[in-house]
Amino acid sequence: MEQGTLYIVATPIGNTADISARALEVLATVDLVAAEDTRHSGKLLKNLGIATTLKAYHDFSDTGAEKYLLGLLAAGKSIALISDAGTPLIADPGYRLVHSARDAGFSVLPIPGPSALLAAVSVSGLPTDRFTFEGFLPAKDSARNKQLALLKDEDRTLIFYEAPHRLRQSLQSLHNIFGQERQVFIAREMTKRFEEHFSGNLGQSLAWLNANDNAERGELVLVVAGRARQEETDAGMTAAMRLFSLLRTDLSLKRAVAVSAEFCGVRKNELYERALAEEGQGKSAGAD
Ligand code: SAM
Repeated sequence: MEQGTLYIVATPIGNTADISARALEVLATVDLVAAEDTRHSGKLLKNLGIATTLKAYHDFSDTGAEKYLLGLLAAGKSIALISDAGTPLIADPGYRLVHSARDAGFSVLPIPGPSALLAAVSVSGLPTDRFTFEGFLPAKDSARNKQLALLKDEDRTLIFYEAPHRLRQSLQSLHNIFGQERQVFIAREMTKRFEEHFSGNLGQSLAWLNANDNAERGELVLVVAGRARQEETDAGMTAAMRLFSLLRTDLSLKRAVAVSAEFCGVRKNELYERALAEEGQGKSAGAD
C-alpha cells in the first residue's frame, strides 16, 4: 500500500463476484474508505468481510470533508474512494476530490473494474471504435429535446444512463428526433438476476416497452447508433438485399442470406428477417 495515495476503486454494478482481487486488497488495507453513501457501501464491505472505516464523501460535501481527506493524504495515509456501484466519477461523485488531490501533488491511482457504460457498449453489437458517453439526459422535455437535437448528427455511438421512470419519455424523444429506424440497444439490470437486453430500432423499442411490464424497472443503459454509421448500415443492407436477390435463384434462402451478409458486412439475422419479409410479399403478390 502506497502512503499518501488516493485510490479510485471500481465496485460491482450488481454482482458482488465482480469485485477484483486488487479492489479487495486495497479496500482492506487503506486507512479509510470514502464513500458516496456509507450505509450502502457499509453493506458491500460487510459482505466482502472488510472492516475498514468509512467516511461519507460527495462532490457537494462541504469543503470540510474534502479538507479532512486531503489532510489525511498529507499525513501519509491512504484512502480508497468508492461510489454506490461501478467506477467512481463516472456519473458519480469524486471529481472535486481527485482534482484537488492531483493539484496538491498526491498520487491518485485507479483500481479499474465494473462500469455500466463499458459493459453495455461491449455487448451492444453497435460500433465500439468511437463512442460518446452523454450521462443522463435532462428530465424536462424541452431540455431533453434540445440536447438530442444537438446530438442528432453525431456519428459516434451514443451512450446514455437512464432512470427507469424516464425510459418511455427518453425513447419517445429519441424516436421523434433521431427517427424510427435508428438502432438502439437497451441493457437492463446487467449482471443481476433479471438482466435483459433489447436490440432493434427506435420504433421497435417503443413496441417492446409497451409489451414488457418489466422494461420500466431496475437500472438501464441506452446505447444508440451514431448517424453516419446508420447510413453505412442502410447502404450495406440495400447492397446485401440486391446480392441476395441475385443469389437466391441458385441458392437456398439461408445460404443466400449467409453469403450476402458476409460479403456486404451486415448482420445476418437482420438480413434474414428482410429476406423472409420480401419472399413473403412475393408469395402473397403471386397469390393475388
Ligand atoms: N459509476 C457507475 C458506473 O461506473 O457505471 C454509474 C453510476 S450512475 C449514478 C447509475 C446509472 O448507471 C444507472 O442509473 C444506470 O443508468 C447505470 N447502471 C448502473 N448499474 C447498472 C446495471 N447493473 N445495469 C444497467 N445499468 C446500470
